[in-house]
Amino acid sequence: MSVFNHDVVIVGAGLAGLRAAVEAAEYCDVAVISKLHPLRSHSGAAQGGICAALGNEEEDYPLWHAFDTVKGADYLGDQDAIEIMCNDAPRAIIEMEHFGVPFSRTKEGKIAQRPFGGHTRNFGEAAVRRACYAADRTGHVCLHTLYEQCIKRKVRFYNEYQVLDLCETDGVVCGVVTYNIRTGDINVFNSKAVMFATGGFGRAYKTTSNAHANTGDGLAIAMQHGVPLEDMEFVQFHPTGLYRLGILVTEGARGEGGVLRNQSGERFMERYAPTVKDLAPRDMISRSMYLEVREGRGVGKQKDYINLDLTHLTLKQIETKLPEISTFAKIYLGVDPSKNPIPVQPTCHYAMGGIPTNIEGKVVYNEKNDVKVGFWAAGEAACVSVHGANRLGTNSLLDLIVFGRRAGKDIVKFVQETKGKMPLQKDADKKVRTKLDRILSRTQGESVGKIREDLQQMMMDKVGVFRTEELLSEACRDIKKLRERAKNAVVQDKGKEFNTDLLDAVELEFMIDYSATVIEGAYHRKESRGAHAREDYPTRNDGEYMKHTLCLVHEDGSSELSFKPVNMKLAEQDWEHKDKFKPKERKY
Ligand SMILES: Cc1cc2nc3c(=O)[nH]c(=O)nc-3n(C[C@H](O)[C@H](O)[C@H](O)COP(=O)(O)OP(=O)(O)OC[C@H]3O[C@@H](n4cnc5c(N)ncnc54)[C@H](O)[C@@H]3O)c2cc1C
Repeated sequence: MSVFNHDVVIVGAGLAGLRAAVEAAEYCDVAVISKLHPLRSHSGAAQGGICAALGNEEEDYPLWHAFDTVKGADYLGDQDAIEIMCNDAPRAIIEMEHFGVPFSRTKEGKIAQRPFGGHTRNFGEAAVRRACYAADRTGHVCLHTLYEQCIKRKVRFYNEYQVLDLCETDGVVCGVVTYNIRTGDINVFNSKAVMFATGGFGRAYKTTSNAHANTGDGLAIAMQHGVPLEDMEFVQFHPTGLYRLGILVTEGARGEGGVLRNQSGERFMERYAPTVKDLAPRDMISRSMYLEVREGRGVGKQKDYINLDLTHLTLKQIETKLPEISTFAKIYLGVDPSKNPIPVQPTCHYAMGGIPTNIEGKVVYNEKNDVKVGFWAAGEAACVSVHGANRLGTNSLLDLIVFGRRAGKDIVKFVQETKGKMPLQKDADKKVRTKLDRILSRTQGESVGKIREDLQQMMMDKVGVFRTEELLSEACRDIKKLRERAKNAVVQDKGKEFNTDLLDAVELEFMIDYSATVIEGAYHRKESRGAHAREDYPTRNDGEYMKHTLCLVHEDGSSELSFKPVNMKLAEQDWEHKDKFKPKERKY
């Protein structure tokens, strides 16, 4: 067993991981471990923008941004964290500009801003231009810029190393166990601080905008170390995935003026959200689209999709503001969006839930928010709960750079206060070795691919946009069966180099573990809130469910649920805007 030593180990090279690395590398020895080349992280696929109340195009304030985020989250977001994020946003964007991000510009040369779903002026009056962007390649340019900043600060990258376990000594996290994808070697990293920035888990669903690598490994590993996952029932479906493929068409397309139309060409969002129409939040639009289809007003032979109409935009607007998605529509569906509408349907997009953390990015493991020492998390894998029950577009990229930086700062403090090396157990890699040997030793059984497909289809059909008691009870039974089947999954490749077959099997086990928390959370939340829509409980029930779910699923499939209160700082503190932040019915 070879052991690598670093002060700090960050797992994940998306924007959350890299932003933390930039911060910590000023003071400590930082390693970033990624199963992909950093520039292939899903952050690079983000299209539409990153928001901040800069007020470059029209009047705007962090207070309005915070109001929209609290309301968008259907009041389940933690208000202390939301306040921090919205207040810090303008600084964070200017910092990204100074790091070198080539934002699109206004005529005066300021950072350009466009409207996005759920972002409004003056507490819901009308849509506001708050999303900063670089055409429709915002994530791509942010990722490249932060990668350069890491190189400049001599961050050590371990690419194509997949983390399969955490090392823990007497309850203190002190490193990770990795599998070198190129050689098949198992290594141990010993560090004072470990941060997980392993991204989302859209791949648990059949139709998704997420990259293949988004299998949520970090969530399952954290749970194996006693950290329950928070608010996993809240899974966001983005309204505009390319028909049948799920590839994303950014909300920026509607920000630029695109509209959704049903079979008769009606702009149906006028009926569901009369004020902001096609710029309503994603959960509402996805549900409205499902209802249109269900009531027979879908487009196409099978009446199963909706049209996204950009034909009234100018060619220049499409070519300069939406070049990427215009190419996607042409390549994948053969549709030229300047001439014909793009067929779209909702696609699984974003996980609001994840590894619970406090506002410094420290991982917490119970309803009292006790800290798991040595362990941090940020980004989509984490749940500091700025997005509550539903995330607003462009708030994720912001979350990554604000809370990535905060975690980085907190880690530096911890490392500086911690003298000497963290003790590492001799057999730290034993669990991983046993697990891989067990998988490789099977010669007969089902293929991993088939079990994964069945999992994805089941999650799509039973734990998707609309949920019912009946579907969720079936899902509870199905996931247990899938867990049993996975125990006998067989991998054909028994080799060491690039054995993706073996890693698929490991990822499948991870996927089953946290999918069970999504199902458990959804089953027990007998109300509709944000992205969690129960047809049998169609209204929000603040009396019983204004609380975060914590769910821990054990290796044998048994589960423990607990709950913790939502932070209501802005609604409770004594100030003039108090009433604005109190829970109300969510209308747009
Ligand atoms: C198509 C698309 C468009 C989007 N557009 C926007 C947008 O315009 N605005 C916005 O705000 N949000 C957008 N989002 C959401 C946002 O991009 C993501 O939430 C965000 O990028 C996640 O960043 P992250 O740093 O948490 O993780 P990621 O960028 O997903 O990176 C995860 C990292 O973890 C590594 N990793 C994972 N597991 C392991 C393991 N076991 N071992 C080692 N490494 C591991 C991966 O290699 C990768 O480097 C979009 C999402 C998608 C899918």
